Amino acid sequence: MPAFICNACGTQYPPSEAVPAACPICIDDRQFVPASGQSWITLQGLRNAHSNKFRRLATALTSIETTPTFGIGQRAILARTPAGNVLWDCIALIDDATVDLLNGLGGVTAIAISHPHYYTTMVEWSRALGGAPIYLHAADRQWVMRADSAVQFWEGDTKPFAPGLTLVRLGGHFDGGTVLHWADWSEGRGVLLSGDILQVVPSGHVSFMWSYPNLLPLSAATVRRMAEILEPFAFDAVYGAFSGRGQIDTNGKQVVAASVARYIARIDETP
Ligand SMILES: [Zn+2]
Ligand SMILES: [Zn+2]
Repeated sequence: MPAFICNACGTQYPPSEAVPAACPICIDDRQFVPASGQSWITLQGLRNAHSNKFRRLATALTSIETTPTFGIGQRAILARTPAGNVLWDCIALIDDATVDLLNGLGGVTAIAISHPHYYTTMVEWSRALGGAPIYLHAADRQWVMRADSAVQFWEGDTKPFAPGLTLVRLGGHFDGGTVLHWADWSEGRGVLLSGDILQVVPSGHVSFMWSYPNLLPLSAATVRRMAEILEPFAFDAVYGAFSGRGQIDTNGKQVVAASVARYIARIDETP
């Protein structure tokens, strides 16, 4: 039986004869059902029409994106750490070339995902990569559309899962919204892989939304709280959810602080 994938967001559902009745990820107020309606594809159908491209994002960081663009245009980032390769975030298309390339780079020891818009076909990736564990924050458990024993839910605000590698739950866009902090990256400069929990924006800042497509912002209090949780972590670079929308190669800590201040100044205007 095929495990159908939502064309609009890339989320895969458990194997079934019939297509799912709806996609809760799309129906959610953070997303939208396309005007043309909900439609579905199989992984084989996706492989026939798309491929993945690998690009060097920065030292020890490789981005993986599907071309032509599929779903929300997500990208994954392979973090090549001394503790093993970590797949940060996930995309719907996984094919033989992708598996061959990842294995050629030393395989994948863990998969960690920022929030449900990137869960996509995470189960397929884990199975194709030797059963790599998938770390998801428990606060977003309800958004897992295809459950699997590879999924390991974690709780609280931080999860150190390998030396120098910490998942940090900031919330915001989703209750379990998570970023990955790699302390030792690039000779100790440190990097934050931020998904769209901190969305890197073209001005070279980051910004924050509950829904990006529907323009529903987060409150000042929520963004302040996110900044507080992030405060203990040092980082020079920040790489976000999408290619071509800017990246922060240096001074990341100061840039995030300035971004929080400018966001709060706009959202919390008092006459
Ligand atoms: Zn969907
Ligand atoms: Zn999102």
